[in-house]
Formats: sequence, structure tokens, C-alpha cells
Amino acid sequence: MSEQPSSLYADWKKIYPRYQTGFFRRLRWSLVAVFLGIYYLLPIIRWNRAEGLPDQAILFDLPARKFYMFDLVIWPQDIFLLAIMLIAAALALFFMTALAGRIFCGYMCFQTVWTDLFLFVEKFFEGNRKQRIKLDSEAWSLRKLLIKVAKHFVWILIGIATGGAFVFYFADAPTLFWQFLDGTAPGPAWFTLIFLTATTYIMAGIAREQVCIYMCPYARFQGAMFDEDSLIVAYHPELGEPRESNRRVRESSETKTGLCIDCDACVTVCPTGIDIRDGQQYECITCGACIDACNTVKDRMHMKNELIRYTSMREIEGKKTRWFRPRILIYGTLLTIFLGGIAVYLAVKSPLSLNVIKHRQPIYIMQSDGSIQNNFTIRILNMHTQARTFSLEVEGLKNASLSIVAVDDFDSEKRPLITVDSGAVMTFTLYLKQAKNSVKSGSKDITFLLRATDNTDFTHSYDSKFMRP
Ligand code: SF4
Ligand code: SF4
Repeated sequence: MSEQPSSLYADWKKIYPRYQTGFFRRLRWSLVAVFLGIYYLLPIIRWNRAEGLPDQAILFDLPARKFYMFDLVIWPQDIFLLAIMLIAAALALFFMTALAGRIFCGYMCFQTVWTDLFLFVEKFFEGNRKQRIKLDSEAWSLRKLLIKVAKHFVWILIGIATGGAFVFYFADAPTLFWQFLDGTAPGPAWFTLIFLTATTYIMAGIAREQVCIYMCPYARFQGAMFDEDSLIVAYHPELGEPRESNRRVRESSETKTGLCIDCDACVTVCPTGIDIRDGQQYECITCGACIDACNTVKDRMHMKNELIRYTSMREIEGKKTRWFRPRILIYGTLLTIFLGGIAVYLAVKSPLSLNVIKHRQPIYIMQSDGSIQNNFTIRILNMHTQARTFSLEVEGLKNASLSIVAVDDFDSEKRPLITVDSGAVMTFTLYLKQAKNSVKSGSKDITFLLRATDNTDFTHSYDSKFMRP
């Protein structure tokens, strides 16, 4: 007899998570408010900068290749900093996962945050879980049509706000806002707005838990960061089993029953539609909704309420969770090093860069008056947000004079003055000459000093050598 091949395809079943109040729900609402508040409001905040510069607190100015973050300006030269920040973000995720499991998925991931918002809108228009199931099973009527249209309309508005807020990070928000209204916004802004509106609507409104279960790669590789001490949400069968829904049986002294009353409250609230009593499942995003549900049921019945809780595999085995363990210490140390490196770099970062290259051909020139001349190429980068004028001098060489090709402006000390625009790189040829009566044989260590004329804090030095016969 031939075996029938079993299908690997399962039909999608719509999940109707029941709304559950409780400690973890309140915690998640607080985080939703914080994250959405930050995301939507940041591009609106104005920031006081020098004249001619954008007054938007956070602006990723792609044409000018500058990222403004309050008083910090990231230049193309700092681009490695973004790579370091990404590595630090990945390490923070590893650290968080090793310590507290999928806490990021349950409380911080934008898929969770926006899905919560969309579910709130759905509940507002369609009612509680039972009413939503009933509405979906009903034949189409004017009432059903109006409810569905209103819900989808608000979802699309949230999608537009989400896409709109995103593009506002890349242009002056008020200007772009009016450009959207009068239809003169640039093509890429329209494309991004429409794309993000559509993806927000589809991901948070339609696909929801399927993004977490089938699309997100994090659910698949998180196991590599987990160990038996990582926090998980777990049902305790030793307390709950055998489960019994019949009160009389539970209260009868003849039957031994566990604490689980088989009410299914933990199943109906689950946003990914799983039954946590079946053991650990990769679909669980550790949102804590089932803990709130079970605690509410147990509180109502004045029963011990620790059936479902945040715990670890080690704790389930009756041992104590170890918080300090090698992977936590390694992730924590690496994260501290990267964050420390970023902080130090930002603290010592100079808005000025000076580079000096000694010409090798010829290595020195003996002039007809006996003086020795060395030629250099200097490169100055002004990463300050204003144009600046700098004076250049050399230290460590007696009776020296320097001149720069195409620069004929000097200060009272006869030092050449160079003006460099904000964000500009300027390259010059420099002649450094030592008078005959001071020339000694051999090379001499020298230092070039570049100083902003209006602010001596903006100073940069570069060590080089002066070559002589
Ligand atoms: S099992 Fe519980 S913690 Fe896990 S996703 Fe479902 S409700 Fe959230
Ligand atoms: S909510 Fe608690 S009591 Fe009810 S079925 Fe789930 S585990 Fe059992």
C-alpha cells in the first residue's frame, strides 16, 4: 500500500488575540508610547545652529553627506562610526537576548510596536475578540462594510504618518510637509512615503504574527545566543498538571488536580496564537500577555498565580538562574568596549584635519643664496559647521619661512592665512625654507601648526621632517 504524501503547507488561520490588561500590558503600552513618540516627534524638533545650517535636531542630509544629531555632526570621514554603531547595536541585541531571551521581540521590535497600535485600532472599531470573530463570520452588510472601511482607513493613515515621519528625517520636515500637500515633493520622497505606507499597512495590519513566525530571521538564529539561564516565558506543568476545568472535580478531595483550570485565557491572548502549555516554541515572542491572562484568572479565583512566568530552563529544573556567566560577560565587555570607543571618539573628535606629505623628488633644494628649501603638499579639512580662516606656522626650525602657492594673505606675524569652507577639503603646495646661516647637516624634526584665527581651540598639528644635505 502506497503512503499518501502529507502536505507541508498549512492554511493561514486568522488570530484574534484577546485584549488583556495587566502589568506586562501596561509596560508594553508605556514602551509603545515612548518609541512611537520618539519616532514621530524627533523630526519636528528644531535645533539652534549657526546661520545657513539646518535647524532640524535630527537630519540625515544625504546630498550634503552630513548627519546632524543635535550638536553632533557626522561627516563622510566619520562613516566608520556608523559601522561601529551598528556593531554596538548587534552586540546590545546579543547581550539582551543572552540575558532576557526575546525581550527585544516582545517589547521593542517595531513589528511588535506597530502591530500593537494596529490591534488597538481594530479593537476600537470591531470590538473585543468575540465581536471580531462574529463580525468576520457574518455576511457582508452596510454595517460591516462601514466598520471595515473605517478600520482600514485609520490603518492607512497610520501607515502614511509612519512613512511621512521617516522621510522627514532626510529633509527639512516643515518644507517637505508643505511640498507633500501641494504635490511638489521630490519623486524619491513620494516613493519612500508610498512604500513605507504600504509595508506598514501590510506588516502590522495584515501579516502581523506571520512576520515574526515566517519572515524574521532573528527568530531562527536567536537559539545561538540562548542558553539554559536566558529568560523565557514558561508554563510550570509541575504546578498546573493535571489540568481540570470542572470546579467540582477540582474541589473534590478524591481527585488530585493541578492549578491550571484549562480556561484557555493564556491561549486566546497570545498574539502568535500558540499554547504556552505545550512547552517552549520558537513562535513565542515573550510578550508576557499569557502571564497577565493567567494572573488575572488566578487573582479572580484567589489561587496561587505563578503558573506562567518569566523563568529560565535552569530554574524549571529546580536550580538557580546564573546571571553572571561567560557569554554575558563576553557580550557585556565587548559592548562596553564599543560604546566606550564611540564615546571617546566623539569626545576627542577634532572638527579639523591636517595632512602633510613631504615631497621626495627632490628631497631638498639648495637655493643660490645657500638656503635650503623643502616642498610639501598640505591638505586641510574643515569639519566645522562654519567656514574658518586658519594660520599656518612651523615649529622646530630656526630662521624658517614658509609660503603657500596661491595664498597671499598673511597675519601680523607673517603667517599665511587660509580660509576653508565648512565641509571643504583644500590642498596646497607649501615651500619651507631655512636661511643659510641656520642650516646644519642632517634631517630635523618639525611640527606644522594650524590654528583657527577666531578660536584657538581649533588647532591641529602634524609632525614631519625637514631634510638637509
Ligand atoms: S506564549 Fe505568551 S509570551 Fe509567548 S507570545 Fe504567546 S502570549 Fe506572548
Ligand atoms: S490561563 Fe492559566 S489557568 Fe488558564 S489555561 Fe492558561 S495556564 Fe491554565
